[in-house]
Amino acid sequence: MQLLQQSGHGDLCGAPGSVAWLQGLIDALCDLSSRDALSGLANRRAFEAALLREIDRVARSGEPALLLILDIDHFKRVNDSYGHRVGDLVITAVAETLQECVRPMDLPARIGGEEFAVILPNCAPAFASTVAERLRTRIENRIIEISPSQALGVTVSIGGAFAPQWVRSTASLWIERADLQLYRAKSEGRNRTCLEPTPVSTVSAEEKGLLFGGAVPEDNDA
Ligand code: GH3
Ligand code: MG
Ligand code: MG
Repeated sequence: MQLLQQSGHGDLCGAPGSVAWLQGLIDALCDLSSRDALSGLANRRAFEAALLREIDRVARSGEPALLLILDIDHFKRVNDSYGHRVGDLVITAVAETLQECVRPMDLPARIGGEEFAVILPNCAPAFASTVAERLRTRIENRIIEISPSQALGVTVSIGGAFAPQWVRSTASLWIERADLQLYRAKSEGRNRTCLEPTPVSTVSAEEKGLLFGGAVPEDNDA
């Protein structure tokens, strides 16, 4: 109960032990287990569950969905120069900025130390780079106060990939493709966005395996 109170879930409705109280307790525990304690964003577990749901939705509806992965540039320097506490402040500020500039249907998450992801359902490819660049510039322009007399700024690199629309891919393949673009953004100089050129129309061997139940046909890419 102390843990729930500390995380702002202390006020449960109904008499202790009642159905309403127990339901409130279950809801509070679910919420607690799906959030990252430092940033308040969805944690890696909640992110992966949401990604799987999104893959299913895309396969059913055919609507495009974009996955962005963001990594703070040269974050080690922040920790080395200002200490871990300031590093944590920076992570929280980046998380807040992300939360502020996505649509209610989008899911921002903290998926690693200084790594974030955003799932954007129903995001048309024509808007992808504008959306990703908006996130990048909002973070770049944010002034992070680290003491009454000191402020600093950070940048992020962003990689993005669309969910394949005609095949039920896996969450890890989708993450891998966005990660590849993030790697490209880092190697091209950081503080930039790299997106997979178009929604994938070619299919990996692993995806073919999933589609054709292991009997992979000769290479005749659709
Ligand atoms: P790059 O531009 O290539 O991403 O460089 P980088 O320095 O950001 O990359 P690297 O992945 O080498 O460093 C990430 C650092 O983040 C290492 C680790 O000490 C720090 N870190 C990870 N989690 C946390 C955290 O929760 N709080 C703080 N303050 N630091 C963290
Ligand atoms: Mg990193
Ligand atoms: Mg980094």
